[in-house]
Amino acid sequence: MRKRLVVALSGGVGGAKLALGLSRVLPADELLVVANTGDDFEHLGLSISPDIDTLTYTLAGIDNPATGWGRRDETWSFMDSIGALGGEDWFRLGDRDLALHVERTRRLRLGQTLSEVTSDICRRLGIGARVLPMSDDRVRTRVRSERGWIDFQDYFVRQQCRPVVHELAFDDVALARPQAEIAAALRSGDVRAVIVCPSNPFISVEPILAIPGMRDAIKASGAPVVAVSPIIGGQAVKGPTAKMMRELGLEASAAGVAARYGDLLDGYIVDHADADGVGHVGPQVTIAKILMKTLDDRETLARVTLDAADALASQR
Ligand code: GDP
Repeated sequence: MRKRLVVALSGGVGGAKLALGLSRVLPADELLVVANTGDDFEHLGLSISPDIDTLTYTLAGIDNPATGWGRRDETWSFMDSIGALGGEDWFRLGDRDLALHVERTRRLRLGQTLSEVTSDICRRLGIGARVLPMSDDRVRTRVRSERGWIDFQDYFVRQQCRPVVHELAFDDVALARPQAEIAAALRSGDVRAVIVCPSNPFISVEPILAIPGMRDAIKASGAPVVAVSPIIGGQAVKGPTAKMMRELGLEASAAGVAARYGDLLDGYIVDHADADGVGHVGPQVTIAKILMKTLDDRETLARVTLDAADALASQR
């Protein structure tokens, strides 16, 4: 019988683009998006989950295409007011976006899990696919730069990724368990493909893979694992992926990303611009247009990725 479930590992901006494509070419009950929560933090007394929120807004069609984060048609009265009072305004929270953080925080304080809150909010916003945090346990990405260890959002937003990254750590990851529905899905024998979205390997995908048991569960699912490169022509489309690779002493290239994922990958989708550099990588390579500008680009790349996975499955 045909296997049905597609499990997509995702960070924020790049991951959500492909997740949207997948959500439009798959029936809703066949897609499970695993969101990185290493970027989560507490700010102004609120529990903020940036990658879950980018996925939620994108899949609900209310994302802000100009920024890549936050909601569209946003207003900024809260930010302007808190700034005028001398409060913290380095992490931008729009008025509509703020409502989500306030509501999530309220429910978490009542004892609901992050999965329960996320699932309900997705349902209320009309999202059919499942979006789940990688774990309901707290994991926090930290960055070691020239001035020692700093919190992820301090690095990413407050310091605009300027510090040189020497090392990354995922605090408390050793104590975290894979989210229960994700673990059950991977065990179900019904996984058609595991897709590693074109997200930052170090800060979006590796926190997911670092959860004890996650990498093994992905392998043991028996499904082909196919990644889409976040690097095009040796550069990141957005964000610090290429800069981080250089700072960590790695080759900033599509091939470098594949090398980093190692034997996790069975298939790898790279851009025409990188076709020459990937001859020696381990996974089976598919060359495609992987820059997603339009909705059509997102859907086409989703189909290419699924076709690559299906082809790999049929070779087994
Ligand atoms: P973050 O958590 O918001 O940083 O988002 P992600 O980690 O999911 O995405 C960041 C990565 O997405 C960067 O490495 C970008 O190069 C990549 N990216 C953004 N847009 C595209 C695109 O259209 N195509 C591909 N292949 N990668 C993209």
